[in-house]
Amino acid sequence: MNEIFLLKLGEIVLKGANRKQFENRLKANVARRMHPFGDFKVSILQSTVYVEPQNDQCDVDGAWEACHTIFGVVSLCRCRPCEKDLDAIYAAILAYLGDDLAAASSFKVESKRSDKRFPLNSIQISQHIGGMLAEAFPHVAVDVHNPEYTVYVEVRDFAAYVHGPAEPGAGGLPTGVGGRAAVLLSGGIDSPVAGYMIAKRGVELECIHFFSYPYTSELAKDKVLELARRMTRYCGRMSVNVVGFTEIQEAIRDHCPEEYFTIIMRRFMMRISERIARDHGCGCLVTGENLGQVASQTMQAMAVTHAVVHLPVFHPLIGMDKEEIVTIARKIDTLETSILPYEDCCTVFTPKHPKTKPKLAAVETVESRLDVEGLIERALQNTEIVKVRYHG
Ligand code: ATP
Ligand code: MG
Repeated sequence: MNEIFLLKLGEIVLKGANRKQFENRLKANVARRMHPFGDFKVSILQSTVYVEPQNDQCDVDGAWEACHTIFGVVSLCRCRPCEKDLDAIYAAILAYLGDDLAAASSFKVESKRSDKRFPLNSIQISQHIGGMLAEAFPHVAVDVHNPEYTVYVEVRDFAAYVHGPAEPGAGGLPTGVGGRAAVLLSGGIDSPVAGYMIAKRGVELECIHFFSYPYTSELAKDKVLELARRMTRYCGRMSVNVVGFTEIQEAIRDHCPEEYFTIIMRRFMMRISERIARDHGCGCLVTGENLGQVASQTMQAMAVTHAVVHLPVFHPLIGMDKEEIVTIARKIDTLETSILPYEDCCTVFTPKHPKTKPKLAAVETVESRLDVEGLIERALQNTEIVKVRYHG
């Protein structure tokens, strides 16, 4: 084939003894992600993943776009492979990059030679090819300091590759090298972003959603499933555990003072989530909490909320401003679903004056009016697991 992708690895290059495991995982992830786009050969060599379409039926543009959402890839380029020979390299540049080069006002050539048997070093390659191109494109000035366009030549083990500027990859670590996390997914803007940020560190996700039918509608549930579906673009396949939460919310409403509704509800969410997390081999819980955003997200309220679980609770958005969160939501394409106007169980029975500085002992006293264990057991039995497949 006359075009291939080179995906450059980021931090995983640094990981010493784990490197092989990381590379194998990344290779498997790339192969799985390429599958819907046709027959691609995926191999890994010298900290670079090679993705080669095997026939003309491959959807090369679709595959290229998907490569931008694979964690563990720091940058990527579409290249033309050619023989390791100056004339062949020159011809490949003319055919593959000629139009881009002709449209630029200035250019330079940057070369890399990982095959040390190649007779010229990288500076010599750049000089040679640069000279040939300067003659072919007399109107495009050579500017080695601040060129508008850079032609890249890489002389590697099996071939040479020419390409234009690389594009940024998704960064992070390959999905699966960092274990599993259970994300509490509401229908809001924050929690999908929190899930994405943890997934970026190489973590597979299991989602948990608390659903209070009929106070929250089927449409609200569909919205959360759609959010999860959108997250798969970066985070990979996952399941959403939809927990029936109505009985718990009604019990809290019927037996607890109003100002404690939210905090006690959140303690139930944490307890149930911890049990689901353990059942699915997850090592932590993740929420979209953000300091000071609402009454339940003060330090004191979070301390009381998290006091009921032993697993670590991560909240990657804790110190971010809303605008920063929205920027990521837009980038990962969850924003437009998040802002659909369906209610969340958090907005059912919302107290007018929630306690912003709840005391643990007082909350525990109020909570002791409830059959906590029984409520949790029944909610767990009333949990539906929905598998969410990747969608482009
Ligand atoms: P989000 O935008 O993610 O809904 P938020 O700012 O609205 O967050 P809260 O509603 O207080 O904040 O919820 C804080 C966190 O608790 C959420 O980010 C999410 O992790 C979790 N959460 C809230 N409601 C639910 C729910 N119905 N199901 C699962 N998790 C939830
Ligand atoms: Mg919310």
